[in-house]
Amino acid sequence: PAEGKQDFIRQIVRDDLASGKHLAIRTRFPPEPNGYLHIGHAKAICLDFGLAAEFGGRCNLRFDDTNPAKEDPEFVQAIQEDVRWLGFEWASLRHASDYFEVFYLAAEKLIRQGDAFVCDLSAEQVREYRGTLTAPGRESPFRGRSVDENLDLFRRMRAGEFADGARTLRAKIDMASGNINLRDPALYRIKKVAHQNTGDAWPIYPMYDYAHALGDAIEGITHSLCTLEFEDHRPLYDWCVERADLAGDPGLLEPLIARGLPAEAARPRQIEFSRLNINYAVMSKRKLSALVADGLVQGWDDPRMYTLQGLRRRGYTPAALRLFVDRLGISKQNSVIDYSVLEGALRDELDARAARRMAVVDPLRLVLANLPDGHAETLTFSNHPKDERLGQRAVPFSNVVWIERDDFAEVPPKGWKRLVPGGEVRLRGAGIVRCDEVIKDADGAIVELRGTLDPASRPGMEGANRKVKGTLHWVDAARGVPAELRLYDRLFSVADPDDESGGLTYRDHLNPDSRRVARGVIEPAAAQAAPEQGFQFERLGYFVADRRDHAPGAPVFNRSVTLRDTWAA
Ligand code: ATP
Ligand code: MG
Ligand code: MG
Repeated sequence: PAEGKQDFIRQIVRDDLASGKHLAIRTRFPPEPNGYLHIGHAKAICLDFGLAAEFGGRCNLRFDDTNPAKEDPEFVQAIQEDVRWLGFEWASLRHASDYFEVFYLAAEKLIRQGDAFVCDLSAEQVREYRGTLTAPGRESPFRGRSVDENLDLFRRMRAGEFADGARTLRAKIDMASGNINLRDPALYRIKKVAHQNTGDAWPIYPMYDYAHALGDAIEGITHSLCTLEFEDHRPLYDWCVERADLAGDPGLLEPLIARGLPAEAARPRQIEFSRLNINYAVMSKRKLSALVADGLVQGWDDPRMYTLQGLRRRGYTPAALRLFVDRLGISKQNSVIDYSVLEGALRDELDARAARRMAVVDPLRLVLANLPDGHAETLTFSNHPKDERLGQRAVPFSNVVWIERDDFAEVPPKGWKRLVPGGEVRLRGAGIVRCDEVIKDADGAIVELRGTLDPASRPGMEGANRKVKGTLHWVDAARGVPAELRLYDRLFSVADPDDESGGLTYRDHLNPDSRRVARGVIEPAAAQAAPEQGFQFERLGYFVADRRDHAPGAPVFNRSVTLRDTWAA
């Protein structure tokens, strides 16, 4: 609920609605379709879409597709899927490229107003002329071109007459500005590259700042939320909105109206917030792409990846991610969030919701010698210890069960609460068992335990309340189902994999134990899961049936998170 969240952006929105500055708010989430969305984007999505939902406004999904070389329809599809999966729906789906004609007409207008000029300096010369933080820049020798010459050259740029990089259209602002973004920034560049939405129609493409500001204005965005690194761009954003003045020039929007795209001409306000950083993670699309391209992970949706697709496959739920983002809050303070906060949100979300099941990762046979061979019964277990609404299930039990190999110790360390020769433990929901005999192979490896089930300790009996040290999970050997259990851990073994000091890169910090595959065994009620169904496997953690590889006949589960945080701080 909106009342619950008190961050500075929600306060601005409340004030703007209370003062009547806006009757309703409009926001947008503007990803560039050059990669899959990652956990950082989840913060922006929850803010952009969440705000609109809380205040009865509208939020558009806009593909910021002004840089054709790296963009791909594959990403356009995936981003839509991810936004919906997180639980949001856009009011309108847009592409910045839908507005290319308007951007172009507005640029001609800037030229006519004397606010833009065609510059023949090379990229390298532009850098040289730009100056530094302490030294003002120098004006381009082409800055004084007449309006007619500029219009002619710009039209010929658009017609494809010049080579890539030969000319740019630049805003005429102030080469002495203390803000380098205002030193005659480029508005258009020549780039003869096919575009995923507009094909070969355009040999020139607008620059991000220009396209973003005008795109927001066209869509009637009231609050344009972005991350802090754009704070220094805000004066340029405002300059573009004011000088293009779409509101004062409705004719500029006609190309859109003609195509049936509703367009308006608002004066959007850019507001910056701090981006999400998490330790033990990399989050730039460039690095995530490299992990995939170099085979360091098994694709964009590898469960160790920080992409939404990866987190989803790992077993993160939309509710867990929204809870995580809520806990972060919104501010202008840059910080690094501890990875355990992300895992904590998942645990808290799943503890209440996940049905319980039993699975054994590293099975050791335990024969209950006092039960007859072939003995079979069906026990009834609650699916959740605290919530009856999750119902019950049938759990098969027989005279042979699998227990976890490391729940038995011939020579127990101090404080051991699990099974030892001659000792007793409770088999969860089945009764108390004593270990009578340890069977070994020729090499001395333990292959089987033999024990006795206390017949007076069966579920519901008085003797079941007898105190014993430990309770073990187990799976029936007769009807348990072999399963592949993928045990994941953090992809990086250092808190700051982006730290490149000492000549290292994030590739040098990969955790060699981030993926372990075990052949385990699970109870039938877990094997029958649908892909993406999640459980708590008792004592082992939260697991999810793999979205791609799981089938009831050949189950594959990914561990989403352990039950407790086992990483030392
Ligand atoms: P990257 O730097 O990972 O390539 P980007 O910022 O270039 O990401 P965009 O597709 O341009 O990716 O991002 C779309 C929106 O998501 C932008 O508004 C951006 O500010 C926001 N965003 C991206 N990364 C984060 C983050 N780590 N935390 C919060 N918001 C983010
Ligand atoms: Mg970007
Ligand atoms: Mg980026």
